[in-house]
Amino acid sequence: MTSTTRAPNGGTLTNLLGLSREQMEAFFLSIGEKKFRASQVMKWIHHDGCDDFEAMTNLSKALRARLAEVAEVRGPGVVYEGTSSDGTRKWVLEVEDGSYVETVLIPAENGHRRTLCVSSQVGCSLDCSFCSTGKQGFQRNLTAAEIIGQVWVASRSGGPRRDTANRPVTNVVMMGMGEPLLNYDNVVPAMKLMLDDNGYGLSKRRVTLSTSGVVPMIDKLGDELDVSLAVSLHAANDELRNELVPLNRKYNIRTLLDACQRYLAKCDAARMITIEYTLIKDVNDQRQHAEQLAELLRELPCKINLIPFNPFLHSGYEKPSRNQTMRFQQWLYELGYTAPIRSTRGDDIDAACGQLVGRVKDRTRRHERYIQSIQLDAD
Ligand code: SAH
Ligand code: SF4
Repeated sequence: MTSTTRAPNGGTLTNLLGLSREQMEAFFLSIGEKKFRASQVMKWIHHDGCDDFEAMTNLSKALRARLAEVAEVRGPGVVYEGTSSDGTRKWVLEVEDGSYVETVLIPAENGHRRTLCVSSQVGCSLDCSFCSTGKQGFQRNLTAAEIIGQVWVASRSGGPRRDTANRPVTNVVMMGMGEPLLNYDNVVPAMKLMLDDNGYGLSKRRVTLSTSGVVPMIDKLGDELDVSLAVSLHAANDELRNELVPLNRKYNIRTLLDACQRYLAKCDAARMITIEYTLIKDVNDQRQHAEQLAELLRELPCKINLIPFNPFLHSGYEKPSRNQTMRFQQWLYELGYTAPIRSTRGDDIDAACGQLVGRVKDRTRRHERYIQSIQLDAD
């Protein structure tokens, strides 16, 4: 979806921020310009973080003036920005209707990787029983400009970045708020911009989409892009998964794993699916669950990420003890799987954010689980 606002002359301004290369080329053709202008303007927007046509000095003055009449580069407003003592950075962004989304940039301990966790919707309709976003219900899809706008804000914070050797964002995971495959038409152009050399130039291994299992859209995604895929499994039998992830009643585990195999068959051979498994005390953290999980995944090239449940008010679930989490990890190890436990980071800015931005307080819990779930081994 292309977003527009009303221009002073009564027309509408096209927001160029969210346009993929094809869409940008079509835009320039539509205003009687050559296609190559698209890559010039994309570099200004995404490489330099520029939102002012006047500063785009390799365009003629006449074209700059024309662009100012018909277009704009409008990113989300930064409501809060903070850096935690461990280097995790967080932004609370205001999007078009006054809703807020959070974006978190997590540096890896070795300093080489900086992973940005990006949201795709405000709220979520899928109502997973252990997820605070699900509990808020669905408010709306983010536009492509609002999705890529999160990468744009985080990248801009690193200053001008013609220098690709020192990028502020090296990896993106679509693991923020919302189910990305239920906002396919906006998520795909935004991901194309993440991959495009005139956009953020990230390799497809460094861009990960996380889904709770919208099977037909996994197939569709595989036909269009081959980014890394993470699947939120959380249970190895349908009875339990129906309870945790209600979408399982529509697309059960077998159907989902078959879709994963089809996805891998379309990608290059070395790729794997990341299986996300949120460990919930006494619900899915027992030996029998580890055994079922190991058996279930036997045929699928995959790696498992264990995410200790992050409690929130009235969730009705508890986080397993550290010992239990490690026992579960050990059981998986004995069954042939190395499954990293995703650790919590950036807590001090979460608290700060909760205090500073009272209106988004109910969403700040999500920050913790972002942090836990996104340190994927995507190098
Ligand atoms: N909707 C997508 C992507 C966003 S959720 C999905 O479900 O995959 C990102 C990850 O955080 C998912 O694996 C999700 O199951 C997990 N998650 C949600 N709530 C959590 C919580 N309270 N504690 C730990 N992980 C949680
Ligand atoms: Fe939506 Fe993902 Fe939360 Fe489920 S876990 S409610 S799919 S955001």
